[in-house]
Amino acid sequence: MEKLIFATSNKDKMIEIRMILADSGYEILSMKDAEIDIDIIEDGSTFEENAIIKAKAISELTGELVLADDSGLEVDYMDKMPGIYSARFEGVDTPYSIKNKIIMDKLQGVSDEERSARFVCAIAAAFPNGEVTTKRGTIEGRIGYEEQGSNGFGYDPIFFVPEYGCTTAQLSPEQKNEVSHRGKALRLICEELKNR
Ligand code: IMP
Repeated sequence: MEKLIFATSNKDKMIEIRMILADSGYEILSMKDAEIDIDIIEDGSTFEENAIIKAKAISELTGELVLADDSGLEVDYMDKMPGIYSARFEGVDTPYSIKNKIIMDKLQGVSDEERSARFVCAIAAAFPNGEVTTKRGTIEGRIGYEEQGSNGFGYDPIFFVPEYGCTTAQLSPEQKNEVSHRGKALRLICEELKNR
């Protein structure tokens, strides 16, 4: 089986990625599996740029096919913040219960229509020959009024999806992967890998 390295050290993302890529035909190695322990500075100005920076750095280091994702939450009322700063928003080590409360507080008194938000995921694939390609997936929703649900991670408990009438933290892992930004982007990149 061909292998690829997925350049993330986020355990929650890795669980989702392994589920989504289970039938991809690739053996998926995490950074830990590949025994890579380096810090990459994500200084791009878009999700795509950051995903490319991570995928290229690890591909150049290992000579392997490497995928990397960069993702985040865009809240329209907050001028699309935290966006690419989603992990760093209000401090990397700040618990999400606090980050989520800060976002809900900023939207106090704001109507349903103005609470629109989306999760964005850009996946970059860096090939051993130096080529790079990216795909993007998104899911539209609204910022809720309280945290709901305990599945998923990060901003999931405040990300309400009107079609499902619940937050992404209330979806089962399988349901979330079907509709999520990460699921969509990963399925697109898999198509691309198959076509090469
Ligand atoms: P990254 O590791 O720089 O891509 O950080 C992505 C950050 O965006 C995560 O740490 C979360 O804060 C947020 N995020 C991305 N995807 C999701 C998701 O599926 N649910 C909840 N939060 C997410």
